[in-house]
Amino acid sequence: MNKKRVEELVRALLIEIGEDPAREGLVKTPARVARSWEFLTTGYRKSLRRTINGAIFTAQSNNMIIARDIEVYSLCEHHMLPFFGRCHIGYIARDKVLGVSKLARIVDVFARRLQIQERMTEQIAHEIRRSVNAEGVGVVMECRHLCMMMRGVEKQNSVMTTSTVLGSFHAEAATRAEFMNLALHSH
Ligand code: ZN
Repeated sequence: MNKKRVEELVRALLIEIGEDPAREGLVKTPARVARSWEFLTTGYRKSLRRTINGAIFTAQSNNMIIARDIEVYSLCEHHMLPFFGRCHIGYIARDKVLGVSKLARIVDVFARRLQIQERMTEQIAHEIRRSVNAEGVGVVMECRHLCMMMRGVEKQNSVMTTSTVLGSFHAEAATRAEFMNLALHSH
């Protein structure tokens, strides 16, 4: 990302919305915004294989593994405004499992880019299945979208829920129900 170029764009945007980029409070804003966009879009420049590297372990059982309430902060690609909430992940391992902290790192790689919630939910599920060849994977995301909340499009507290189920989570109703129960109704 060319930070100087982004700073120029932000300065131009400030002028277009009727601001004075030279006033005291705004002088450093273009540089701050450029730095924050660089961070918020690191997902474009991170390799998933390197993110996961070294944190795949031999499975001790093939029980369902659940990680609930992983924090998510992303940006909607339609308005470039934040959406945020929680991600719940479940999978059934065959012979390999992921280190717990890696699930959150995978979520971050997909969240730190322009997104739509439905696609991010699918990408996370497919990546977990790919990385450990899981027998089944389920991902549920519950997020609030500032583009809806701030513009008054939807009720202020409405939460959008999306889910993706793959493998045995897709094929077996009982497995899917067990996951949905653990993911959604225990908090
Ligand atoms: Zn939006």
